[in-house]
Amino acid sequence: MKIMKFGGSSMANADTIRIVSQIILRQSIQQPVRVVVSACSGITDALLNCARLASSGKKKYQSIAADIASLHLSFLQALTPNKKITDTHPIRCLINELNNLLEGIWLLREAAPSTLDTIASFGERFSAELLAECLKCTHSAQFIDTRALIVTNDQFTAAAVHMDLTRRRFHHWHTQFLQQHPETIPVFTGFIAATQDGRTTTLGRNGSDYSAAIVGAALHAEQVEIWTDVDGVYSADPGIVPEAFVVPELSYEEAMELSHFGAKVLHPATLAPLRDLNIPIQVKNTFNPEAPGTRIAGEKNPDIDPTPASGITAIDGITLLSWSGRRKTDISFTVDRLFRVLADARVNIFLISQASSQHSLTLAIRSNDAAAAIAVIREAFRSELKQQLIRLEKKSEQIILAIVGDGMRGVPGVAGKMFHSLGQQGISIRAIAQGASEHNISLVIDGHEEARALNLVHDAFFSREKKLGLLLIGTGNVGGTLLQMLAKQIPSLHQNRFNLRLCAVANSRRMLFKNAGIDPAAALSALSDSDITKPLHLERLIHEARTADFLPLALIDCTASGELVQHYPDIIRAGLHIITPNKKANVLPFAAWQKLMDEFKQHERHFLYQTNVGAGLPILSTIKDLLAGGDRIHSIEGILSGTLSYLFNHYDGSRPFAEVLEQTEKDGLTEPDPREDLSGMDVARKLVIMAREMGLRMELEDVMVENLVPDILRAGKFTRQFYPRFAACEPDMQKKLAEGQKKGAVLRYVGSLKNGKAHAGVRLIPKNHPLAFTRASDNIISITTDRYQATPLVIQGLGAGAPVTAMGVFSDILRLLHYLPW
Ligand code: ASP
Ligand code: MG
Repeated sequence: MKIMKFGGSSMANADTIRIVSQIILRQSIQQPVRVVVSACSGITDALLNCARLASSGKKKYQSIAADIASLHLSFLQALTPNKKITDTHPIRCLINELNNLLEGIWLLREAAPSTLDTIASFGERFSAELLAECLKCTHSAQFIDTRALIVTNDQFTAAAVHMDLTRRRFHHWHTQFLQQHPETIPVFTGFIAATQDGRTTTLGRNGSDYSAAIVGAALHAEQVEIWTDVDGVYSADPGIVPEAFVVPELSYEEAMELSHFGAKVLHPATLAPLRDLNIPIQVKNTFNPEAPGTRIAGEKNPDIDPTPASGITAIDGITLLSWSGRRKTDISFTVDRLFRVLADARVNIFLISQASSQHSLTLAIRSNDAAAAIAVIREAFRSELKQQLIRLEKKSEQIILAIVGDGMRGVPGVAGKMFHSLGQQGISIRAIAQGASEHNISLVIDGHEEARALNLVHDAFFSREKKLGLLLIGTGNVGGTLLQMLAKQIPSLHQNRFNLRLCAVANSRRMLFKNAGIDPAAALSALSDSDITKPLHLERLIHEARTADFLPLALIDCTASGELVQHYPDIIRAGLHIITPNKKANVLPFAAWQKLMDEFKQHERHFLYQTNVGAGLPILSTIKDLLAGGDRIHSIEGILSGTLSYLFNHYDGSRPFAEVLEQTEKDGLTEPDPREDLSGMDVARKLVIMAREMGLRMELEDVMVENLVPDILRAGKFTRQFYPRFAACEPDMQKKLAEGQKKGAVLRYVGSLKNGKAHAGVRLIPKNHPLAFTRASDNIISITTDRYQATPLVIQGLGAGAPVTAMGVFSDILRLLHYLPW
């Protein structure tokens, strides 16, 4: 035999009641079923509202009562279209009885808890009658009023069940029922019961689940099914955690913990009577009956659920009270009394945490109880508080976040994972508790962090993918190319369980922010339509990133801006990693640079700038790897500027140097002012970056740089007049070239690091030397180390331009994904 309980949303209207009856009839073919129902949705509230209005003399109750009546009549009409609803029809009788009672309340202006229970009982009496009527169209069915069967004490509105008496009544009833109507489907009223002398009680709001459990236990059912409007018990509230999923199996203990901690699937009392008899519960969806639902039973199948956690829930509206003393004795003497005082005031304590020093104790209670709790404490401890022997502090707007699972028993690292996931995003934990049974770990955190915290913890325990949110600043050549790359690569990354999401795009004019993700292919046009036109509102960007998103985030700085670098510390503190081709940060004065690096370390954020040297070439990563592997770098030399590489690769004496320069500029391979390339500063910066990578304390000024721009041409704005004037200096370069040609050498602009010194300038390179074999705007670098001595390690390839730079930035993004934990 099985018990099928249908909730209010399953009984919402005639259509859903018809669906319910079809589900019942289908099941009844296979085995005997016993049905329990809640009131139709909203009816219990409406009834209680009626009673309150009537008791305070408001006539408005009449129109609400009339609505309740006509609603049920219309359902009845729709469900039994061929039957006439006579004056003696049970639904009509109920309506009359209800109206009479309400009138009585109105006359007496009184609605005691016992009266409220009687009024509330009509909800389930109506709904059970309706369903029985509907079933009767095709099958024999019978309305059963549980007030005759479930016996409780007289604690109205939340009565306690006398299980023995109840069981005896059920036994007696069932024996007769089976003799008289073996084929009939009984439809029990949920929620309602009666005292031994027949006064109506209820089992507490949402108590129909509990009724189903009582019926199941009393009749020794094989299974109790709870039919609701969701697919089962979720791993977290899906309204807050979009990635929550239906948990296939839970143990009784897990389900108890979850329902205690606010998961709104089951009434907390439901589980105990069934656990005692080992009767499994299946949570099912009336509107998706094919879905397997959640099974709650004694033992779980360990193959199904390999995670230590089964679910995460939160209780909001919590206040923390901390009780502290100057000395250990001050506290230990008072704790006893404190608990007694709170118990007398009926204050429910959700969580207690005490540090082993015993100087303080923290309690979590409902904020609704806080004023009363504080008042009774002040009263009881007046003198201790006055003498300042103890201190009472309160913190409101807190939540308790609980992670529940049998699998965490004896498994180390569960709490660590939880703390890490929150700590990483700057969410601090105010109190912690774990029971010795290790079914749950509870934390108290700030209420406004609820959504973020639930998502982070859910992610840490259940996510099967790595996620990263990107905030791209700078949409020029590199940024633009990166967007195209992202558009192409994101789908295939997804197949490898990497979930990359573009959350923001900004340039110096506009900004666009979208948590759900921006399509990178359409990002530029979306950005130009964006109405946030303030040039890079960094504060807002950081604010949005901090509060509105649950992913680890990385800022992609594709600007050449020194100003943005000034804000790196704020960005780091906001919890973002930084990836950039921008060299400005890495060439800050050494002390400032070191401070910035410390900031990254202190906040455990990654800084990835692989493209600072050689664009997409793996130069910095190779240096890092060599050093990490214990190798010693003797020297590094190379051609590090794509522009200067191109220039000297094409300068063979057939044309003047100035002409080759002009051509290089026309080919788009120089800065708008080519003097910036000729100055050698770009090479100097790269040398400093590599030197710092090697642990050298080097400043930009320490690099000996040969500036190819003659003194007299250095000042002033760049105009085309520069070229003829530059040509006048030609003989110098020509002389060098001629000298080289005589020796079988070529001219190259070389940067070198050796013995802690850095040089950048034009050098004669023998034709058979690796640095002589560059083409176009190649970069090349040769590294001599302990292990690479006879033949240095050489890296060569295209070292400038948007495609290779964007690719390098992209590989930094991948690197970051690899660093992040699963
Ligand atoms: N109808 C009752 C209520 O709304 C009981 C239930 O729905 O389970 O609280
Ligand atoms: Mg309900």
